[in-house]
Amino acid sequence: MTNQVQGILKDDTGRRIVTAAFCCNGHNLIDGENPLMDGLSTLHLRVHSSKSGDVDIYLSPIQGDSRVIGGEEISRDELLDISCPVCGTPFEVVAPCYCHNGMFVAIYLKPDCQYREAIVICNSWGCKHSFVKLESRIILSSS
Ligand SMILES: [Zn+2]
Ligand SMILES: [Zn+2]
Repeated sequence: MTNQVQGILKDDTGRRIVTAAFCCNGHNLIDGENPLMDGLSTLHLRVHSSKSGDVDIYLSPIQGDSRVIGGEEISRDELLDISCPVCGTPFEVVAPCYCHNGMFVAIYLKPDCQYREAIVICNSWGCKHSFVKLESRIILSSS
């Protein structure tokens, strides 16, 4: 494995794997206590649904992999508030998503909240878009 940037690993099959992600208060969302996917620790978020209330979800740490644990009760395309499961701080909205429904929120790869090293996810439930923004390069993936 080569370490491209702090918080992202590229494995032998070329997959980019997020190994650390933080809220602005420095809570690590990828914890060894989280459920595993393909043997990897998932990324824990809390989402607020107007119909289902607060729901804990665990995202695949593999870039472009839309698998998620939790949230089965949330309606497709519902717009969610996404926050840190530890302190409840909402993540910053940074741009409209390509799905024309949701917005991308930034989740930082370092505890100091530098947007240039962040992953972004769409707040529209079921949207498949996610990408990793690294300085001037955007690595886009959708499935
Ligand atoms: Zn937090
Ligand atoms: Zn979207």
